[in-house]
Amino acid sequence: MKPSPHALTREELHRQLAAWHEPAYRTDQLLAWLYEHRVTAWDAMTNLPRSLRARLAETFDLRVPELVTVRAAADSTTKFLWRLADGALIESVLIPANPALYGEASDRHTLCVSTQVGCAYGCKFCASGLDGWKRNLTPDEIVNQVLAVERWHAERETARPASGVPPARLITNLVIMGMGEPLANYDPLLKALRLLNAPWGGGIGARKITISTSGLAPQIRKLAEEPEQFRLAISLHGATDEVRSRLMPINRRYPLRELIAACEHYLARKGRMLTFEYLLLAGVNDSPADARALIRLARPLGAKVNLIPYNRVEGLPWRRPAEAACEAFLAELERGGIKATLRREKGTDIDAACGQLRLKTERQNALSPSP
Ligand code: SAH
Ligand code: SF4
Repeated sequence: MKPSPHALTREELHRQLAAWHEPAYRTDQLLAWLYEHRVTAWDAMTNLPRSLRARLAETFDLRVPELVTVRAAADSTTKFLWRLADGALIESVLIPANPALYGEASDRHTLCVSTQVGCAYGCKFCASGLDGWKRNLTPDEIVNQVLAVERWHAERETARPASGVPPARLITNLVIMGMGEPLANYDPLLKALRLLNAPWGGGIGARKITISTSGLAPQIRKLAEEPEQFRLAISLHGATDEVRSRLMPINRRYPLRELIAACEHYLARKGRMLTFEYLLLAGVNDSPADARALIRLARPLGAKVNLIPYNRVEGLPWRRPAEAACEAFLAELERGGIKATLRREKGTDIDAACGQLRLKTERQNALSPSP
């Protein structure tokens, strides 16, 4: 299969064009078509000579994901289901500004992107892992989720004059929290994030990119050595090994002691704010004793806690606690001096928890095979 130009750095594209004896400025022209105008056809690159466009088309595949469905929830969270070149389905979720989550308050749009098809980690509450792991996404498949949502947005801006001026970008922040375990697809993920971060590429600041992990301790340490200041979120969900191992098989491989040590290392290297994601599951991890155990883990790290009331997944036994119980858990954390937020309804009516829309579609397809 031909490589995608969206998997290559400026340097790599430059080397290719130089090998064809193209002048240096062609690289920036090409990058502008790819990342500013986000065109989907070589022939749209009108300031490149026809012969160069033909050569590019022979060498590269300008593949983009196909939009299968897009669903908007009442709160304007929007969920995209994409079909990739091999037929695999992945999801991205566009989340409107929410000052409480992942950083500073401002008017912004966050895109949640997937990094794998399925997931191998099998957390007991998660739809993404239910049917296992299929494959890793390539750097361009990660990058193109962002570009495709930008394209979708630009097409809706009907008032925009047809002047050829590229539309203003919509997405200001990224959370790597879609389907898959990002740190299990380490090199392609980092390449994609660098393409999305580069001023000639996606132009999204590293501090506006949050990587969420179920707790791969060695990869957290590796990430600490990278030059970029990515934000880190840990899917904790249990504050004792007993509770966490019940929910997340990964905890048997890297128990809390090891995970917390890796977090300490990340903090020491980066001096960055760390976030704990904590799902609230009725009768499982929502008692005052659980809150106190969570305080004991979060306080020494100065970690912020995002509480997420469980989103029901069909076929799974868990329930979310009553609203009052969620509020009480939050209040307990705050009394313990922890900065915490409680996620109040975002996209539950569109199956916005990671992996849910894909799972539903795959299962519907399995029930009614196409003719
Ligand atoms: N694999 C990574 C990133 C993807 S999961 C990780 O586990 O961190 C992104 C977040 O969605 C995680 O915090 C995960 O625990 C949460 N999540 C999974 N299933 C959920 C559900 N049914 N309801 C609410 N959040 C869920
Ligand atoms: Fe995988 Fe994250 Fe879901 Fe666990 S929560 S199964 S690591 S996607």
